[in-house]
Amino acid sequence: MYSDLVAALDIGGTKIAGALVDGSGGICLRARRPTPAGEDAETVMGAVAAVLAELGASPLWGGVTAVGIGSAGPVDASAGTVSPVNIPGWRDFPLVERVRRVTGGLPVELVGDGVAMTAAEHWKGAARGHDNALCMVVSTGVGGGLVLGGRLHTGPTGNAGHIGHISVDLDGDPCPCGSRGCVERIASGPHIARRALENGWRPGPGGDTTAAAVAASARAGDPVATASFERAARALAAGIAATATLVEIDIAVIGGGVAGAGDVLFAPLRRSLRDYATLSFVRRLTVAPALTGGDAGLLGAAAAAAPERRDTAAAYTG
Ligand SMILES: [Zn+2]
Repeated sequence: MYSDLVAALDIGGTKIAGALVDGSGGICLRARRPTPAGEDAETVMGAVAAVLAELGASPLWGGVTAVGIGSAGPVDASAGTVSPVNIPGWRDFPLVERVRRVTGGLPVELVGDGVAMTAAEHWKGAARGHDNALCMVVSTGVGGGLVLGGRLHTGPTGNAGHIGHISVDLDGDPCPCGSRGCVERIASGPHIARRALENGWRPGPGGDTTAAAVAASARAGDPVATASFERAARALAAGIAATATLVEIDIAVIGGGVAGAGDVLFAPLRRSLRDYATLSFVRRLTVAPALTGGDAGLLGAAAAAAPERRDTAAAYTG
């Protein structure tokens, strides 16, 4: 009954999720394990193998034709290796080869998590039907990916579109990546919260100091909380405008926990875009919240493994 399934893996610092995904983006079966992020390479690989074994135990597995992996980065898709910042045991870990061995020689496609989210939004989400799009995840970090000319643009190593580490503040704070004034250093959830606290914002009785708590204060009219989101929005707008000016995107899709702030983020972001995206060919640029939510990584990994899926939206419109 099911054929042409893709086994999708979404590998992050806290969880390893797996699923069997059909050709229309339906999720037929799920499995997940916590990421033993502080353990050695083989222990982490053991958790990946356990997820694959659980999927493989299903009679549906017979319909699986490929494996797609979206992983926390950096990844090197050309070498088939991953070195996720939050999984220190994996440095140049040969994930593609190891997964190929576990799955009996199926073709394996690897992309970074920002590219995976982009593939998902282009296939099933807010970028559907757009031939030129920037998709971003704004949460603990800031990642992203590009659709150009109707196709996912991964770059040689699978990291193209990593907007979180372009500088929008030449003399800004040093970033762990080695540069300074990066979009991530200003717009990620932890940095929104940090800046609010530094400027005198205080959490409620529950002591919640997350960006979501800052967003709630902003919604209630707190000026310091509002200012921290406005600064994040300006950093995002500058990065989006630079991208649009370089490669002529017509939509920027934003997902991740910080996007859950809604108008607290999107209203100043749209205002700031008018300040930074000024040339005639970028003025029509729109911004939209992501639609694929928590399944973005799995759907995107599945789409990356089956290019005819991820490019379907473009085929219909272009
Ligand atoms: Zn950086």
